[in-house]
Amino acid sequence: NQSLQELDPEIYQVLEGELQRQRDTLEMIASENFVPRAVLQAQGSVLTNKYAEGYPGRRYYGGCEWVDIAESLAIERALEVFGGDYANVQPHSGAQANAAVLHALAQPGDTILGLSLDHGGHLTHGMKLNFSGRLYNVAAYGVDKETYRIDMDDVRQKAIESKPKVIIAGWSAYPRTLDFQAFREIADEVGAYLWVDMAHFAGLVAAGLHPSPVPFADVVTTTIHKTIGGPRSGMILSSRGETLGRKLNSAVFPGQQGGPLMHVIAAKAVALKVAASAEFKDRQMRTLSGARILADRLSQPDVSEAGISVLTGGTDVHLVLVDLQNSALSGKDAEDLLHTVNITVNRNAVPFDPRPPMVTSGLRIGTPALATRGFSDDDFREVADVISVALRDAALGREVDTEALKDRVAALTAAHPLYPGLEQ
Ligand code: PLP
Repeated sequence: NQSLQELDPEIYQVLEGELQRQRDTLEMIASENFVPRAVLQAQGSVLTNKYAEGYPGRRYYGGCEWVDIAESLAIERALEVFGGDYANVQPHSGAQANAAVLHALAQPGDTILGLSLDHGGHLTHGMKLNFSGRLYNVAAYGVDKETYRIDMDDVRQKAIESKPKVIIAGWSAYPRTLDFQAFREIADEVGAYLWVDMAHFAGLVAAGLHPSPVPFADVVTTTIHKTIGGPRSGMILSSRGETLGRKLNSAVFPGQQGGPLMHVIAAKAVALKVAASAEFKDRQMRTLSGARILADRLSQPDVSEAGISVLTGGTDVHLVLVDLQNSALSGKDAEDLLHTVNITVNRNAVPFDPRPPMVTSGLRIGTPALATRGFSDDDFREVADVISVALRDAALGREVDTEALKDRVAALTAAHPLYPGLEQ
């Protein structure tokens, strides 16, 4: 019955250090968020002890009466929030959900067509070292060289040429909404399934602030931990449950996974309850306006004159892609620089990037975690200015006043305490 602090002071210290880091920095990695304390509680619960292979009411283990309730609630809430008639809440992660979808819809050797990784796609959409690139024959579409937007004529052309079994729409680094109707028409034209991976923008969809792929796609996958702000995990949805439900269920278990993580499933149920609330919608609205404020500030003349711009000229979603191709500052330099003023972002290759993948010419900056922390438009204006001044001065070879910028960051973190009262 020892506490963590007594049993394992080293790991206790890691948790303490990480909590402090999260409190003291501005978290702007677009795929990260802060879960509610209720999610921490569900995830750190005795449900972690339970084996529950199978599905609610059809388990291969006894004693599942309580975890069945948790999983059924998670499914009900997922359908309430996203629509459709099928949900599987068991995938341990986004990548697991995606593996299960390909397992259900395609055979090894079949062709899949997705957005290429270096234009903003995800590893599981056909990257050559990933299972998706090893098991399937991969065709890829990209963005237009001038506009940096996905060109649906190119998608159609590639689909006609490659005759994919599955067309994948979805991204990890792309600042615009997708035309799901157009993807559907192309999939129908070539006789392919349409799978949408909405991992990044699912929170916006849940709040009704982004078009929903659910009516258009055969299958939709998502993570729960990005814009939704729930536990790290994945989920599969469909509006074609009658035809595809059994296949998808069997692809998750026993196809990909053994026992589901019931503590995480309970935490997912909590996150999906939150996702139906008015407070959640307000948070997603602040997420979007924060990203627009950031894109706007980074497009001002003082920043453009330093060779820095915003890919596609703005954003429709929760992130901004900063283009450093014409700047002396690389993605790596920019990431490191912002780290020194306590802002956490990640460098990201831009399409047609001339710099190597570990260096890159881009930054991906997201607003979901700060919106969850309570940031208003005014706060985002201040963050946007700190980022812009730091990048501008560094790109122009001027001395960056890191102490002053750090003080401005500290004022913001102090104004929005994270997990007040929480101790590890
Ligand atoms: N799909 C997309 C579009 C993603 O961006 C990500 C994560 O970065 C994933 C899937 C994978 O999620 P996970 O890291 O939970 O496996």
